[in-house]
Amino acid sequence: MLNALSVDVEDWFQVGAFETVIDRNSWDSRECRVERNTDLVLELFDDAGVKATFFTLGWVAERYPALIRRIVENGHEIASHGYGHDRVFTFTPEQFAADLVRSRNLIENSAGVAVTGYRAPSFSIDQRTPWAHEILAEQGYAYSSSVAPIKHDHYGWAEAPRFAFRPVAGSDFLEIPVTTAELGPKRLAAGGGGFFRLLPYAFSRWAIHQVNERDGRPAVIYFHPWEIDPEQPRVPNAPLKSKIRHYTKLDVMAAKLRRLPQDFQWERLDSIVAREKARLAA
Ligand SMILES: [Zn+2]
Repeated sequence: MLNALSVDVEDWFQVGAFETVIDRNSWDSRECRVERNTDLVLELFDDAGVKATFFTLGWVAERYPALIRRIVENGHEIASHGYGHDRVFTFTPEQFAADLVRSRNLIENSAGVAVTGYRAPSFSIDQRTPWAHEILAEQGYAYSSSVAPIKHDHYGWAEAPRFAFRPVAGSDFLEIPVTTAELGPKRLAAGGGGFFRLLPYAFSRWAIHQVNERDGRPAVIYFHPWEIDPEQPRVPNAPLKSKIRHYTKLDVMAAKLRRLPQDFQWERLDSIVAREKARLAA
């Protein structure tokens, strides 16, 4: 069973949890660590022989075009995470369409290859944005991995399917949600981010096994470059819960990530999507 590993390429000051305390106008004056951290991720993947998908902000592509090229040269998929990490439900449909075009142009100009995948910032495609998948399909995207089919305090669309589905009638455009596990009647977030970093590795291994063995489906896991960076600047005035989530176990994250390829096989999301499309068409 092949699983999908993905990296949401954004810097420590761009995360949703800090948006109330970090003014967007201050981004350019912050210490940028995304290039260094993403290079460390590339090294880690190279050592482990892993290919993955890098959902990258247009903002990052604009400033680090050489990084975008290195991602592509290393055999990974480059995909879009929007321009400036605005959540989709804060946009009008027209604003969303414009954000997609802007970020895709910036990424493709650096990458020299076509972008066919999209991940909404903070998994912000949900019941509030019935137009979002249609706009992605209209713009020629092959897939989105933007839905967290779970109830969570910052995000989630609890009623959404747990596995790949076609959200647009008459189109083979695919939504491939981030991984959840089931414990009795309860759905558990198991796709990564804080859950992968904060909980013992054994939880993630159990969840991915369940998805692969019991459900017979690929897992979709994600993390961020800042999660392997214990030296990143601290945000002193952030809410306590956000601080705990953001800063705990940054020092063990890289070692944890190295365990994933020992236990499971990983691929780019576009390859997984092609397999899921073939399965749904059969
Ligand atoms: Zn993000």
